[in-house]
Amino acid sequence: MAHRVRVSMYGSSVYVRGLIEFSNICKQNCMYCGLRSGNKQLSRYRLSLQEIMECCDEGYRLGYRTFVLQSGEDAWYTTDRLAELIRSIKQSHPDAAVTLSIGERSDECYTRLFEAGADRFLLRHETASRALYNALHPTMQFEQRRERLHALQSIGYQIGAGFMVGLPGQTSADLAEDLLYVQELQPDMIGIGPFLPHEATPLRDMPPGTVERTLDMIALARLLVPQALIPATTAMGTAHPQGRELALLAGANVVMPNLSPMSVRSKYMLYNNKICTGDESAQCRFCLERRIEAIGLYMDMGRGDSLKYLDQSGQTIAPFFP
Ligand code: SAH
Ligand code: SF4
Repeated sequence: MAHRVRVSMYGSSVYVRGLIEFSNICKQNCMYCGLRSGNKQLSRYRLSLQEIMECCDEGYRLGYRTFVLQSGEDAWYTTDRLAELIRSIKQSHPDAAVTLSIGERSDECYTRLFEAGADRFLLRHETASRALYNALHPTMQFEQRRERLHALQSIGYQIGAGFMVGLPGQTSADLAEDLLYVQELQPDMIGIGPFLPHEATPLRDMPPGTVERTLDMIALARLLVPQALIPATTAMGTAHPQGRELALLAGANVVMPNLSPMSVRSKYMLYNNKICTGDESAQCRFCLERRIEAIGLYMDMGRGDSLKYLDQSGQTIAPFFP
């Protein structure tokens, strides 16, 4: 059912975003994440603005028209530096969209980055359960996370919320709250992936979220928020060899191949066994294209704006009727 709804909204296209993991330095200490500040075993890196630009140039040559700049919460990248970076990406590639995924910042920062040309922002709400959120985020606040998402939405970004499935202590009622939350928020994008343990975190011995449960959540998210973009996440690809294909057939319609330089791939380790850490950017691009075509869908190299955004900006595309 979810696949049918997805086809009626977006056709058989799968949108692609080139993901650049530009820093693994993070001041936060989320219990599940390999980049948490408490992980002293990790070798840390920061890409220069020049290096990030080079990744975008490479992505552009490969056909990508959306770049996702993701990092830990790293204050070295001040508002000024990020604004300069965004302006130069937009100047070189005016037809590409820039998505940020850099965590919580001030209203002023979000506004200036939007004015510099950033189009979208991914900030998962992580879990809609207040108690679970508090247990997993010793350095962050439940209300604050939601408030930041609202701030981004009112500034004008296309926003991405989302959550992990199978977090230690998470109940079915908590997952129902996650679905109701995204239905209420109506984000442009909903990122859903299984929780996967990382060996250097306090949750190292906890069981991972299951593929089946995560597919259920993806399908339900598609049915509840039909116009959303839903990625087939790298965590799904890590949990199961065909995890992303399964997600794409259960309502997902976006993939995010890696564009980070090879030298840093293995250092952006959010969880154990993350896939694609040994592949060149071009390999990731063509590997995904083959996988998408093998399940009867096709890779759409356009900007891939959400239907909500296209509608609001008067560019509504006619719905597909299969
Ligand atoms: N620092 C930014 C962006 C990087 S983390 C932020 O937190 O928003 C990106 C996402 O990775 C997080 O939102 C989280 O949902 C996911 N993630 C982190 N650790 C994970 C784990 N162990 N298993 C599955 N997903 C994880
Ligand atoms: Fe930092 Fe994001 Fe990992 Fe939390 S999830 S520790 S904010 S990188």
